[in-house]
Amino acid sequence: LKKVAYFHLLNKNNKYSAYALIAALESRFPQFRSDFVRRPKEVLDHVNKYDKVILGVTLMTTDLLNENYLDEIISLKGKVILVAGGPHPTGDPYGTLSLGFDLVVHGEGEETLGELISALSESEELDDVKGLYLSDFRFTGRRKQVDLNDFPPWPYWRGLFGPIEITRGCPFACAYCQTSFIFKSTVRHRSVENVVRYAELLKKLGGKDLRFITPNALSYGGNGYDMRLDLIEELLSKLKKVGVRTFFGSFPSEVRPEFVKNDSIKIIEKYASNKRIVIGAQSASNKMLKLLHRGHTWEDVVNAVDISVKHGITPEVDFILGLPGETEEDMEITLNGMKELINMGARAHLHYFMPLPGTPLAFSYPTKLPDKIRKEVANLVGKGKAWGQWLKQEKISWKIVELRERGVIMIRPYRRREVEPKLINPNP
Ligand code: SF4
Repeated sequence: LKKVAYFHLLNKNNKYSAYALIAALESRFPQFRSDFVRRPKEVLDHVNKYDKVILGVTLMTTDLLNENYLDEIISLKGKVILVAGGPHPTGDPYGTLSLGFDLVVHGEGEETLGELISALSESEELDDVKGLYLSDFRFTGRRKQVDLNDFPPWPYWRGLFGPIEITRGCPFACAYCQTSFIFKSTVRHRSVENVVRYAELLKKLGGKDLRFITPNALSYGGNGYDMRLDLIEELLSKLKKVGVRTFFGSFPSEVRPEFVKNDSIKIIEKYASNKRIVIGAQSASNKMLKLLHRGHTWEDVVNAVDISVKHGITPEVDFILGLPGETEEDMEITLNGMKELINMGARAHLHYFMPLPGTPLAFSYPTKLPDKIRKEVANLVGKGKAWGQWLKQEKISWKIVELRERGVIMIRPYRRREVEPKLINPNP
């Protein structure tokens, strides 16, 4: 057997996924050395100690704009095995291999990485490791989805912890979002017992606050469309007994507007510590919401804000500016919608559309904001009623378009059938 070691490149944007991957490797494949590196070149300190060294990189599309970072990684080609995974490589495996990576992990990495290391320790043969794009662009095939309960959320034995991923997968497949296309539409949850166990560990390690990673906190325990208030209440009441402060439906997660009802918000009010909730709206134009495949209406958003405010929870509502196909009229509708919510007591969190690989809108263009709209948005920001990275994201968005046009992003043609059609609710 060859001696193989795995090092994951840690940076401020990939901390949570890096923790989860190292936790999965160290708990399931303890016979192999796995660790973090903070700079790509740090991995060179280890190449003489092992027969094969892998550098794993979680890549976001925005990382492609950081040329120095990427150059430093690719300069290691030939000295270590370069493996990319995460949202960008999953959406654009061919483009990622063309950048110089040796292998791409498609979708979830927990099991694929462990099997990859095992296979490399035995031979060079990787065809049996499902979920990989090989350097000759062949795909080894899809793998079964992981069960979150099989993996620790973070490597607590290293004294490291963070938010707990309680739900993975989303059935809505919104046209701009990578979640359903990476993790698929099948919704999986970490069990109440499992979450409570890690909450206890977190408390023992000195952690006071517990947050979650989930596409929609109020979908916990259900099939993605329904609400299992019994399970949400069981989870939150047990966590309260553990004695940690629980933040449910706020950063880094959110809730869908049509899930905000009197009974669901009452449970949050009763057990959770957050005084804010993040609600995804994205647009106030019902035409745009339909085009985006959001599966809810503007009226659902207004209703969710009304209910939250009545329960003393401040809604922070996400909007996306510059959506493809948006007319000035749609933008006016969204701007007026934002003002309506602000008057009700909400804050608007502003984003700018980015054509992300792997999504149905990967080939589209952002829409430029007319000066009048831009001024009004800036005015809301100036008054502290809205905030966000929208100006930075606007620049990034056009740079992504440029990379696409230069062929750096190659993007495999998107196929709607990749999201199981039976799970797309025709009448949400
Ligand atoms: S509901 Fe949220 S997580 Fe699900 S596809 Fe839409 S934006 Fe993504």
